[in-house]
Amino acid sequence: MKPLTEGDVRASFVNCSKGESRRLAVPRDLAERPWSELDFLGWRDPGAPDRRYLVAELEDALVGVTLRAPQNVHRSFTKTNVCSLCLTGHPGTGVALLAAPRTGQAGRQGNTVGAYVCSDLACSLYIRGRKRIAASQRHQETLTAAERAERLRGNLRGFLQQVGVPDPRPVPAAA
Ligand SMILES: [Zn+2]
Repeated sequence: MKPLTEGDVRASFVNCSKGESRRLAVPRDLAERPWSELDFLGWRDPGAPDRRYLVAELEDALVGVTLRAPQNVHRSFTKTNVCSLCLTGHPGTGVALLAAPRTGQAGRQGNTVGAYVCSDLACSLYIRGRKRIAASQRHQETLTAAERAERLRGNLRGFLQQVGVPDPRPVPAAA
């Protein structure tokens, strides 16, 4: 994806208030991220371990969503250890159930969309072999990294559509 600035990231959020998007913790190392190998930018809030954020390019628009890991819930579902976006299998707590508030009225009424996702949101790095998982959990895939990236982006698009992506926002010009 194209490199993003803090301003791009803050402006991309679709499922939280403007105030929340101004205050949330954006990574300070955006300039050093391996953008050419990322299908989306995902990170954990260092000050609030149950909060995650994800920003993706979707149909020429930049879409950011806030996510929460309901901690008492995901512990009771430890059997599920495959990420629903990148299909990477993880031992232990490597996959978390994350819930994204839906956009608009539905979200204000408390509706969320849940998905099991790599808890560090590093899907792009796992499918490219840039980040390793425990060998016992790795199943042989015949797909190339490019094919897995395409599958990841398709799964991510489906998830974001469930969240309820509103009017497209323009992607910022390349830096
Ligand atoms: Zn994943």
